[in-house]
Amino acid sequence: MQNSPSLVPYFYAGCVERNEMSMACEALIVTDSAGVKNKVFILRFDSLDMKYDVAIIGSGIVGLSTAFHLSEKHSDLKIAVIDKFHTYAQGNTGKSAAGFRDVFSSDTSFKLSSSSIRFYDHVQRILGIDLGMKHVGYLFLMDNESASETMEEIGRKTKIEEIGLDRLADLGISVRPDADVKDVMGLDDIRKAYLAHNAGIMEPDKIAAFYYNQCVNRNIDFLFGTNVQSLNLVPEKPLDYPGEPFIWQDKTIGSINTDRGEISADTFVLATDVWTNFLTDPVGIDSHIRPKKRQLFKIRNEFIEAIVGRKVLSTESFPFTVFPKGVYIRPSPAERTFWAGVADDIGRDFSFVEDPQPEPHFYTYNVYQVLQAYMKPVASASVTGMWAGYYSYNTIDGNPYIFRTLNLIVATGTSGSGIMKGDAIGRVATALYDGEEKAKLYDGMRINTADLGVKSRHVEEEKLVL
Ligand SMILES: Cc1cc2nc3c(=O)[nH]c(=O)nc-3n(C[C@H](O)[C@H](O)[C@H](O)COP(=O)(O)OP(=O)(O)OC[C@H]3O[C@@H](n4cnc5c(N)ncnc54)[C@H](O)[C@@H]3O)c2cc1C
Repeated sequence: MQNSPSLVPYFYAGCVERNEMSMACEALIVTDSAGVKNKVFILRFDSLDMKYDVAIIGSGIVGLSTAFHLSEKHSDLKIAVIDKFHTYAQGNTGKSAAGFRDVFSSDTSFKLSSSSIRFYDHVQRILGIDLGMKHVGYLFLMDNESASETMEEIGRKTKIEEIGLDRLADLGISVRPDADVKDVMGLDDIRKAYLAHNAGIMEPDKIAAFYYNQCVNRNIDFLFGTNVQSLNLVPEKPLDYPGEPFIWQDKTIGSINTDRGEISADTFVLATDVWTNFLTDPVGIDSHIRPKKRQLFKIRNEFIEAIVGRKVLSTESFPFTVFPKGVYIRPSPAERTFWAGVADDIGRDFSFVEDPQPEPHFYTYNVYQVLQAYMKPVASASVTGMWAGYYSYNTIDGNPYIFRTLNLIVATGTSGSGIMKGDAIGRVATALYDGEEKAKLYDGMRINTADLGVKSRHVEEEKLVL
């Protein structure tokens, strides 16, 4: 039943030799969600004894974007991107709902997302590389005044249109749930509807492929199938006494241990999302994130098939729609399905397993109940696929953590919006590498790098973590 839209490796092709280290390099062909084949090179090595200028751990959107922007600025850097999976974008990047929006209450999230969206738009429209971006909009259905106030405040930053409630019937949405349902579930009537225009859906595997292909052309080494087990904290000036580093010694991350050997680098970047703590905890660095499991359920019936691709409002097709209680449906016009999910908070524990499984009863007793209260035509829809992943959740302010400590740059805490902010996060990580106070985002917007860090953090709480 599990059916993640991530890349599916389907055959291995012959070996070639690449780079001056003459490591064996294998070409793997992967297909993206649209059936397009991409060639992925996998370096093969039996034991590593390598030295890089920068080693980036993680080849999701954050690691790839960082590799891209770092190499864009410093063509001479010797960079490795390391991932335990056998190709890129197999972590949470491949499991996301792949919605994008610049509708965020905090200015920081707004800047990160709006600049990234503009960059992705540039890649798709100007460079002509399809990223699967469709501006279908985000429709927010509000049942209380304070949520409407937040929306009106955000409307000063980006285009948000109030939609007459009478227009929702065309989408199969009832403003008033049945009285008994309202009573039992404590639901309220929808009082306001807002359509965000700079928003929609995209295909993260295509964005990842864009960055990956650029990086491969720049001779960045991709070390797939390589699990990083630990960071080696060493003294900057070793004395070769047992027990080093001592508290009085200046420290650095000298190398990383992997299941295939040791890799040294001058700088390490952790783009490891929800896995970050496994590497930072043992060396006493706090990544400030917690794992929250997130699930998506693909649903389909005749109504969905007919409506999902239709221009119901002024957008390209049915909008990404957020109902009261946070339940959302993400249209997938190509598959003629909706993906339904919710960012459940209290009640959802912070546990972590390597291969999280979706819970059918969670759909039945939670997501479905809210959906059918407000959208009766989907009540008969069958679940045709489901998958689960994690948010690396910043439970304090809902914005990413991007900071540098020693020679380690950590970029995590994407809190459910790492794809739509991925380009900007890579630029901030690059600015940190360069020791810059301000990171220049796409189209010239600037952000203080320290604001996203730990010690001098300066961001407002994000109210719209979905
Ligand atoms: C159900 C769901 C819905 C979502 N919906 C959206 C959405 O609509 N829009 C949006 O923008 N975002 C969404 N997100 C969030 C988004 O998926 C993440 O923010 C984003 O993918 C984070 O990217 P990343 O590169 O940091 O992490 P990942 O893609 O998880 O990449 C981290 C990589 O690090 C590697 N790694 C970790 N530890 C090690 C190690 N020790 N050794 C080697 N490799 C290691 C992993 O293998 C992985 O490939 C959603 C997430 C989920 C789960």
